[in-house]
Amino acid sequence: MKLSVIALTKKYERVLALDQATFEAPDSRITVLLGPSGSGKSTALRLIAGLERPDSGVILFDDEPVNLPPEKRGVSMVFQSFSLFPHMSVKQNILFGVRSKNLSQAQKEAIAKEIAELVGVTDKLDAKPDELSGGQQQRVALARALASTPRLLLLDEPFSNLDARLREELRWELKRIQAERGITMVHVTHDYTEALALADHIVVLNQGKVEQEGEAEWLIENPKNEFVAWFLGYNVVKINGECVWFRPHKARLSQDGELCGLVELVQNAYFGKKVRVKGNGWSVEVLEQGDVPKLGSTVCVKLLEMRHFANWEKL
Ligand code: ADP
Repeated sequence: MKLSVIALTKKYERVLALDQATFEAPDSRITVLLGPSGSGKSTALRLIAGLERPDSGVILFDDEPVNLPPEKRGVSMVFQSFSLFPHMSVKQNILFGVRSKNLSQAQKEAIAKEIAELVGVTDKLDAKPDELSGGQQQRVALARALASTPRLLLLDEPFSNLDARLREELRWELKRIQAERGITMVHVTHDYTEALALADHIVVLNQGKVEQEGEAEWLIENPKNEFVAWFLGYNVVKINGECVWFRPHKARLSQDGELCGLVELVQNAYFGKKVRVKGNGWSVEVLEQGDVPKLGSTVCVKLLEMRHFANWEKL
């Protein structure tokens, strides 16, 4: 199912949480809403789920306006906190999501088993939530959301309470589940690495407004403005009066280059070292493979890519 959001606006007292936000989530794809804390991501999800009403704007499911109550929308949501029912077993939690009341016990057991298998908690069906690790609890929350066979699955920073390794593992799981089931997903995160890992389609939000939207691979290569490039982790600097961006791995430290400054800080990274070079009014990060000059030494940065914004908005 394709989701379209048109000019969605929501105000809380004096805060404009969403400001004429327009975007799409293509059918059978993972769309990531990416933006800093407070940019309106969760508000967008709550409006799409029908948990709150917009002040103005339209939500369309497959091009049809939706005005149904939340339970009739065919939408499931997974939250950041593991919102399982503590007194119920894993199986009961999963089956809570099953909408149809006309199923036999055997049919319900089969559904619970199938979905538990899909998310990898088969051996925990009789356990209570407090006997599970954080990762397992979030798998069960995902299972419960999937059990209702939603048309649209909304995920509100579901992995942010998990450790980094587990988070990576669950990103793979989510990708696999999406590929197997073909569900349309809208996933909220403030973490660009998560957006890069998961998204087929990206919507970048900032202060309630959509800064940019597009197919993930295209958007990553074509940030529209300084905010989007910066939020995707790219260097944004002014060179010869022009605002340019480049990625940390697309630059080298050398004797000469477009930017010359001092080595300010060094971090270990997987593929070398991340070096922060600071100049007069700017600082950039370079991913360096070879030896790294001492802190405080003078270096230049040679750019292997130098991309200008199509419509340069002044720094
Ligand atoms: P995000 O999910 O991107 O962190 P939110 O959608 O939660 O952002 O919030 C957007 C803005 O709306 C924030 O400034 C937040 O403080 C405000 N906001 C969200 N929900 C409420 C609410 N129920 N009452 C008042 N302000 C709210």
